[in-house]
Amino acid sequence: MPENVLDCLVIGGGPAGLTAAIYLARFRRRFQVVDAGASRAALIPTSHNHAGFPEGIHGKALLSRMTEQARKYGAHIVHGRVTDLERRADGVFVARVGPDRIAAHTVLLATGVVDREPDLPDVPDAIQRGLVRHCGICDGYEVLGKRVAVIGHGSSGLHEALFLRTYTADITLLSLGCPLTLSRDERRAAAEAGIAVVEEAVERVVVEGDQVRALAMRDGECRSFDALYSALGSDARSMLVHDLGTRLDDKGCVVTDEHQRSSTEGLFAAGDVVRSLDQISVAMGQAAIAATAIHNLLRGVPSPKEAPDDTLSFSPQNLCSCCSSPEAGRR
Ligand SMILES: Cc1cc2nc3c(=O)[nH]c(=O)nc-3n(C[C@H](O)[C@H](O)[C@H](O)COP(=O)(O)OP(=O)(O)OC[C@H]3O[C@@H](n4cnc5c(N)ncnc54)[C@H](O)[C@@H]3O)c2cc1C
Repeated sequence: MPENVLDCLVIGGGPAGLTAAIYLARFRRRFQVVDAGASRAALIPTSHNHAGFPEGIHGKALLSRMTEQARKYGAHIVHGRVTDLERRADGVFVARVGPDRIAAHTVLLATGVVDREPDLPDVPDAIQRGLVRHCGICDGYEVLGKRVAVIGHGSSGLHEALFLRTYTADITLLSLGCPLTLSRDERRAAAEAGIAVVEEAVERVVVEGDQVRALAMRDGECRSFDALYSALGSDARSMLVHDLGTRLDDKGCVVTDEHQRSSTEGLFAAGDVVRSLDQISVAMGQAAIAATAIHNLLRGVPSPKEAPDDTLSFSPQNLCSCCSSPEAGRR
């Protein structure tokens, strides 16, 4: 049986992976999206800065609409986690998803990042309710004139606090018990901006009604805020490409060129996993660029018209022959 190699494997089905799916499907490429189902976008209560939705849009609704649009053009999007990614000597990528292996000429890494959350009770629920926030660019407008706390260590927390200062004069910078390690200049900048700095350990978030109302400090003091921004950073989900030797920056994000090509031939990256502004519009734009570059790169590969229709699923014929085993492909 001839080896069946997809044009592209898209790893991740957030805004980046789904945008790529829409483009690749309309380019009539043979590809598959494998998604583990933990998109940051799914956490967005309502996005008000994503263009085209004057009333705002819930993150899950956006993902669902994008999925529907991609499927309309034949995209195959499956739930699963890619646990291993190799590049063979002939340049073909082989990904492992549970017992299955998928072979593809190109890979688009769209795996995003994971936020470092404050270790506080009720935080996941508070995120869903928009009480704990992660991104002043996304939703600073919604805290105009409100009492805002920022949790972070050192400079990153201060930068977020200074960014939010354009929206409200009532900002408090909190630590999680570690020293804030602000330099003298940074402390002066905070003071000049009227940002209060509190170093006592945060014990818990208290949600009252529809807002975050209080943070209990270890010393027993309680302070009330309308919103809490976490500025603890995030970790790029780039582990899959470590063994490929793909170039990453000091934060673990994939370094790409203007066509979203990584340093590994055939491997592209888009969205939060790439060092850039972590925004839906950026993820979508990068994915559009990547999908188009992938399509152009594959022009020499048999055209989609010649490809059989039944190859876009986790089926034995979709696996590379060298990897096919009785277990592989069962699903
Ligand atoms: C609370 C919150 C509010 C936000 N609000 C806004 C906003 O209003 N406007 C805005 O523009 N941005 C907002 N953002 C940022 C926005 O959500 C991200 O920029 C966007 O989701 C990035 O898209 P992505 O596709 O790169 O990554 P993600 O959306 O995170 O998707 C990555 C996907 O890859 C999957 N994945 C990871 N590893 C694997 C693997 N090994 N195998 C298979 N699948 C894998 C994950 O499960 C996930 O589904 C917000 C973020 C948060 C947390």
